[in-house]
Order: sequence, then C-alpha cells, then structure tokens
Amino acid sequence: MRALIVHAHPEPTSFNAALRDTAVGAIAAAGHEIEVSDLYAQDFEARAGRHDFLSTADPERFHYQREQEHAARRRAFAPDIAREQASVAAADLLILQFPLWWGGPPAILKGWFERVMAYGFAYVDARRFESGLFRGRRALLSVTTGGTQERFSPAGVYGDIDAVLYPVRRLMLEYMGYEVAPPFVSYAAPRVSEEARRAMLAQWAATVRGALAAPLPERHADDDALASVGTAAWTRTS
Ligand code: FAD
Repeated sequence: MRALIVHAHPEPTSFNAALRDTAVGAIAAAGHEIEVSDLYAQDFEARAGRHDFLSTADPERFHYQREQEHAARRRAFAPDIAREQASVAAADLLILQFPLWWGGPPAILKGWFERVMAYGFAYVDARRFESGLFRGRRALLSVTTGGTQERFSPAGVYGDIDAVLYPVRRLMLEYMGYEVAPPFVSYAAPRVSEEARRAMLAQWAATVRGALAAPLPERHADDDALASVGTAAWTRTS
C-alpha cells in the first residue's frame, strides 16, 4: 500500500507535526510506502487563478471549472498542481493532518482541494460517491482541536464533531469516491497534559495501523487510468 499525508500546519514543532511523524513511523514500520506533502513547508499557493494553468480555454472570461477541464484534457496544470495530483493518484491511503481553524481545515488545505482536486482529475459529471473516481481508496482525517470532546458532542456548544467535519468527509472525500474512516480527533490538544498527548499519539499510531491492515474496497475496473493524471477521467467517461 502507498500512503500520502497532506500536512497543513505552519509550525514544525507543533502537535500536528508530531501526529504526522507518528503516522510516518507507523506506515514505514508496517513496510508500506509513504509520502508527505507539507503544504506550509512548500509554501503551497492556496488561491485559485489563471496561474493554475499552462494553457487557456477562454482568455476573455475566467471560468475555473472550464479551465480545469481544459487543463485535464491537455495535461496543462501548473507544475505545483501536477505534482500533487501525481502524488494523490499514486496513493491508496490519503491522510489529512490539520488543526481545526474556524470550524474547518486551514485555508491552505482548502486551497489545496480547490486547486489539486480539480474538475477532470478528481471528479467529473456522473462519477460521484459510489461511482467516484477514487473508489477503492481510503482516506483518514487526523484533526486537532482547541475545544474539548464535551464541547464537540451532540449536546455541546460546538455540536457533534461529525457534523463539523461533514463538509470534508462527505462533500469532498466521499464525493470523490474515497472510503472515509471515522475521524481521529485529538481534542483540546494544547490544554491536556503531556501524558495525555503521548497517549493520543499512541492511539493515532494504532489507528493508522488499522487503516493499513483493513482491506480496501474494490476499485473500478478502469482505475489504473487514474495513474496517468489528466486525461484519465475523460477516457473513462467518453
Ligand atoms: P500546538 O499548540 O502546536 O501543540 C500543543 C502542545 O503539544 C504544545 O504544548 C506542544 O509543545 C505539545 N507537543 C508538541 N509535540 C509533542 C509531542 N511529540 N508529544 C507531546 N506533546 C507535544 N479550536 C477549535 O476547537 N475550534 C475552532 O474553530 C478553532 N479555530 C481556530 C482558528 C485559528 C485561526 C487558530 C489559530 C486556532 C483555532 N482553534 C480552534 C484552536 C486550534 O484548533 C488548536 O490550537 C490546534 O488544533 C492545536 O494543535 P497544534 O498542533 O497547533 O498544537
């Protein structure tokens, strides 16, 4: 199995970085391949724009999905996007590591989704959810919060954590066809004791091992096409 960790935290000594390193260690120890995309370290551009493309469908009016479709057909994504797409296409297991910021992922990770998970690469019409292009692959969310588990319970002031993470799980990952494991949440990471944080890291390592050991759902028969990033989605739907 090959895993990709997309890491969205600006500080190398953060607890998020410790979670990332724990996952890397668990995956390597289990004998699997691992790649990390550290978005802040690579100064990943979060804003969508014409800079995303090497060729233009319509120079008069910028329609983002239309330009993405154009780039997917011609393999004309900007190098930073093409590189991330190749990593995503090669990964059986996608791990998103991020702190909860204003109720969702940091802007840099949202921007990564908008730019990398492009129309024509990550989704096309009539290929969503069960028929999504990434069916047969697994995704795992590792999220840290400032708020306690009690506050993120159904009766808590912030509401159920599953509702908070619904947009990432359902509207992004499941939309593309990923099987999404229950989220691993390190609640109140800055407030708990050092010992409690160490226990979280151990639980996270066990969760990652479990995600590696569980059989993946069946892929689409045409899944290999995804490895040739860009035109793949079109060859399948046309
Ligand atoms: P850090 O502060 O980096 O680390 C926490 C502690 O872990 C530190 O003491 C650190 O030294 C220690 N640590 C590091 N490595 C290890 C290790 N190996 N072993 C043990 N301990 C270690 N919270 C919410 O609940 N909801 C929100 O909507 C929300 N919005 C936010 C918006 C913004 C813009 C910001 C900046 C924060 C927000 N927060 C929110 C809080 C945020 O979610 C938490 O601060 C964050 O999740 C904590 O993770 P961290 O990696 O940044 O922790």
